Amino acid sequence: MGRKIFMNGKFVDEQQAKVSVFDHCLLYGDGVFEGIRLYQGCVFRLNDHIERLYSSAKYIMLKIPMTPKAMIEAVCETVRRNGLRDGYIRLVVTRGVGPLGLAPWQCKNPTVFIIADKITLYPAEFYEKGLSIVTVPTRRNHVESVNPRVKSCNYLNNILAKIEASIAGALEALMLDHNGFVNECTGDNVFLVKKGVLITPPIYLGALRGITREVVMEIAREERIEVREQPFTRFDVFDADELFLTGTAAEVIPVVNVDKRPIGTGKPGAITKRLIRQFRARTATDGVMVYQ
Ligand code: PMP
Repeated sequence: MGRKIFMNGKFVDEQQAKVSVFDHCLLYGDGVFEGIRLYQGCVFRLNDHIERLYSSAKYIMLKIPMTPKAMIEAVCETVRRNGLRDGYIRLVVTRGVGPLGLAPWQCKNPTVFIIADKITLYPAEFYEKGLSIVTVPTRRNHVESVNPRVKSCNYLNNILAKIEASIAGALEALMLDHNGFVNECTGDNVFLVKKGVLITPPIYLGALRGITREVVMEIAREERIEVREQPFTRFDVFDADELFLTGTAAEVIPVVNVDKRPIGTGKPGAITKRLIRQFRARTATDGVMVYQ
């Protein structure tokens, strides 16, 4: 039995789940999306993801043809129809079908689809040994261009960075803004630890307001670790005691080497390990239960 896909209010077999070649999301990357995790039958931070989806849509003036409440129910029902307890949910709202040409107002009906599937994770060894990453030449979008806060279906900026990282033999890319401040990675937010203080770039600099980022900051405050949202440069990265990335797919993952400089001791740090433990402890309870 194949996957069941939510498609504009109906559930269809994956073979029937198709979008038109005239959909502006395909033609121009005109759409918004969310990537969400399911842990032991609990959709992690579902309300936060839905809120961010509607914020992204508002920014690009795309009216989602469903209420947030109906969207939450649609996500849960997609999980149930696929009988999943753990996995990854991809929720996409496209601009819809329209004539060739950019004008979005020619597209009358946005397409909403939801996929719930199993997830392939980074191999466990990276969580124990840590990642090696590199800084790439491609800069993160300027906030006055396509603001990185919008989770749009146009990820070319990040894809270019990913290609550059891969050419350099790394799995992730550290992305800077036009002034040389560290922003984020291609699919993850970044944190450093210096003298016991947790520091992450402020969102206004040009990064996605990651849900995992928010959770990690909440945990840190509960653990009485000082948290600062503050701009920093590559110098601060090389000089950090610890470094880690956060994201829905990667969760909290240590980074032990950047541009061939070992970070701290060159091994995942104590605060990073503590945050990973605390993060994992709340994944199955901090969200919406699908099977009541
Ligand atoms: N930055 C970018 C560019 C992303 O695409 C993502 C999510 N994939 C993140 C950060 C992390 O956000 P979240 O924790 O909400 O998944």
